[in-house]
Amino acid sequence: MQISRRALLGAGTTGLLIASQPGATAQKRRFRRKPRNIIFCVADGMSLSTLTMCDQFQQLTEGRHSYWMTLLNAEYATSGLQETRSLNSLVTDSAAASSAWGSGRRQWNGQLNMYPDGTKLRPIMSLMQEAGLRCGLVTTTTITHATPAGFAVNSLTRQQEDVIAQEYLKAGVDVLLGGGDRFFSAQQRKDRRDLYAEYAQAGYRVARTKSELLGAVPANRLLGVFHSGHMPYSVDHNHSPELQSTRPRLREMARAAIACLKSAPRGFFLQIEGGRVDHAAHSNDLAGLIYDQIEFEETIKEVVEFALKDRNTLVIITTDHATGGPALNGSGLAYQDSAAGLQKVAGMKASYDTLLKALGDAPTPDRIRQTVRDLLDIALTPDEAEAVAQATRKNSPFRVSEFYEDTGATLAIVLGNHTKVTWTSQNHTSDHVLITAVGPGNELIAGLHANVDLFSLMLAAKDLKYENPTMDYTTARAHFEKIKHLWAPGG
Ligand SMILES: [Zn+2]
Repeated sequence: MQISRRALLGAGTTGLLIASQPGATAQKRRFRRKPRNIIFCVADGMSLSTLTMCDQFQQLTEGRHSYWMTLLNAEYATSGLQETRSLNSLVTDSAAASSAWGSGRRQWNGQLNMYPDGTKLRPIMSLMQEAGLRCGLVTTTTITHATPAGFAVNSLTRQQEDVIAQEYLKAGVDVLLGGGDRFFSAQQRKDRRDLYAEYAQAGYRVARTKSELLGAVPANRLLGVFHSGHMPYSVDHNHSPELQSTRPRLREMARAAIACLKSAPRGFFLQIEGGRVDHAAHSNDLAGLIYDQIEFEETIKEVVEFALKDRNTLVIITTDHATGGPALNGSGLAYQDSAAGLQKVAGMKASYDTLLKALGDAPTPDRIRQTVRDLLDIALTPDEAEAVAQATRKNSPFRVSEFYEDTGATLAIVLGNHTKVTWTSQNHTSDHVLITAVGPGNELIAGLHANVDLFSLMLAAKDLKYENPTMDYTTARAHFEKIKHLWAPGG
């Protein structure tokens, strides 16, 4: 194929590769049968190596494969790969990635179903609602975070979570479950609006604890907000009786959402996110990563069991991008030490969130060794503890790399000597990611898809078609220059 000079220049300046070739074949395929319901499950920031390590860890500690791995060989499931880039980068953020599914168009990183000039793209939930489906969003992050928001709202920046909390009410999303009290409560919002009262007035049941959630189900409309910010990491939840009695797990929220939506006469559309897989990967926190991945996979197990029984639900299971580039490395004579390294995750009782809080400001190397032994069951050498102590004073020995700047990254580098797991960065990466589907239409998931193709695939499952406006990179960049003060990287 001839590639023009203009196309090459375009590729250089836009970071874009060949125009959306993936998906072209999938678009032409026909559904054998169409589903009534769609459940879209996202393990945010899950690279293939996260999936691999989770499977290997469960084999080592429980003598069984991880659930998602068993799906790869199930005759009722189909898997493929997804390309995840955004409008302005080969490496997407969660807002652009979710909006790609939510609008069928590539977005500028940081924006939700909106181009930098303010052009709004119609989100998939509004189209599904118009077709009579009831809709829900479930996540372990704040419910107003980028991934759930990308299915339902428009925003110039993902960071306006207080506004997104209001927008969900306007959008009429039937079920909302996750964290983010600070964007709903009158005490914590800057404008002092009591969104709980506003939702209740609009007919929502409101749940703030695990028992309130269990007591509210099934409800026609349900708002459940269970933590000030993001929900706690699973590894912390697993070791805290207080969290266990007050905060629902992802699988409990997913179960509640399905109970609320499953009798919808014209079907339902539900998004379920294991959002803290991404956060753990950003922090290079191996225990945070593995236990949240396990919780996500236990959740999709219940979701798939529902779908197999119901026989009328398409379940799509994927991630929006990879994060952190973790990998179990060969180590020791004939690589003999790798498995024992990974197995050390079994002794870890805390996320980095909890560990760094326990360390406090400017801890001594002795205190670091003691805390890491208590919470991670790992004996750091004095040199390793010293490197972490330096990092807490913004003087990490690895600070010359833009990818290993903070305390968590330094801690992860020295823990790698013990776990044999190291990371490529604290950022998202450009890897293609896995996508698996079960239920009517699952056959369409084979092959390589662009993230944007899943929008039209899900609409087609409900006999719908919609084209949002397009914008090229050069035009978008010119507009972005005017609003970039609103934008900050991350998550
Ligand atoms: Zn993400």
